[in-house]
Amino acid sequence: MKGPERVVVRVPNWLGDVVLSLAALRDVRAHFPAARLEVLARPAFADLYAAISGVDAVVAARGVRAEADAVRGRYDAGLLFTNSFGTALSLALARVPERWGYATDLRGPLLTRRARVPLEVRHRSQVYYYRAVLSGVGLQVSASPDTSLSPLPAWVERGAALLGPGDWIGLNPGAAYGSAKQWLPARFAAAGDRLARQTGARVAIVGSASERPLAEAIAGAMRETPRVLAGETSLTDLVGVLGRLRLFVTNDSGPMHVAAALGVPVVAVFGSTDWRETAPQSERHALVRHEVECAPCLLRECPIDHRCMRRIETEDVVAAASALWQ
Ligand code: SF4
Repeated sequence: MKGPERVVVRVPNWLGDVVLSLAALRDVRAHFPAARLEVLARPAFADLYAAISGVDAVVAARGVRAEADAVRGRYDAGLLFTNSFGTALSLALARVPERWGYATDLRGPLLTRRARVPLEVRHRSQVYYYRAVLSGVGLQVSASPDTSLSPLPAWVERGAALLGPGDWIGLNPGAAYGSAKQWLPARFAAAGDRLARQTGARVAIVGSASERPLAEAIAGAMRETPRVLAGETSLTDLVGVLGRLRLFVTNDSGPMHVAAALGVPVVAVFGSTDWRETAPQSERHALVRHEVECAPCLLRECPIDHRCMRRIETEDVVAAASALWQ
C-alpha cells in the first residue's frame, strides 16, 4: 500500500504526556519521511511543537466538533496518541480515511487500525506506551527513544531576561492534576532556603496562574527572597526559564518533564503517582519518595492523611538536591 502523504497526530492533553510522547512523534516522522506531518494539539501546548523538527504545522484541538472541522479533507491518515472516544470520533466525523490508535474507551469500531495496550508497557515509562501504539498499528519505532527538547533562541533569551544572571534553583510546588501530587508547601520553602544558603544560588518559584497563591505563600515563608514567576510565564517562557536553571525541585508534573527534556538536573518528589511510569526521562534526576502501602493511588485528592508526602522530610529533598548539584 502506498503510504499516506498527509498525516496528523492527535497528541495528548497533558503537558507531561506531551513530552513523553515526543519520542513516538519522532518515530512517526521517521516512518513517513516524505509525508506532511501535522500535529493536532490543545492550544495551550501548540507552541511547544515549534521546537520539534519534522513537524510541519500545528492545528488547535478545541473539542470533538471543532477538531473534526479542523481536519476534514486535509489528511490521509490520523494517528491518536490519546485514548478517548471523542478524539477518535473527531477523525471519524471528518472522514479521515485511515484512523489509527489504541482500541480504548469503546472506540475500536471508529478505527481502521487498532492497537491493544501490551502488557509489557505496564510499570514502564509512558514513553513506551506511546511507542507501543505505533508498533501496534504496524509502524516502526527507533532503537532508542528521544524525548529531548531544544528551546528556540527566543525562548532562551526570554528565560534569561526573566531570571537575570547567576545560578538559579527552581521550585515547582504545584501540580495541575491535584493536591495529592503536591509535597508540603512549608517543606518546599525550607528546602529552598537551605539550598540557596548551601549553593549561593537564587530561587525562582514557577507555576500556573492558579498556583500563584501557593507560590506566594511559599515565598512568604522563606528567609531568602525568591523570584515568584507563577502565573507570569507563557509555556515558551517557562521552557526558557527552566532551561536556565542549575537545578529544579518539583512535584510530578508537566514542568518536571519539560525540565528533564531540557537536560536540567531534576529532583522529583513522588507520592500518589507511579514513579515507574512517569519518572523524568533523563539521567540527571533523583526521585524522592517514601514507600507507603497505598501508593501509587493515582487519586487527585488524598482520602486519608497524605502520608506519602508527609513522610518525605525536607532533609530527604535537600540531600538529593545537594548530590545532584555537585
Ligand atoms: S492515598 Fe496514599 S498514595 Fe494516595 S495520596 Fe493518600 S497517602 Fe498518598
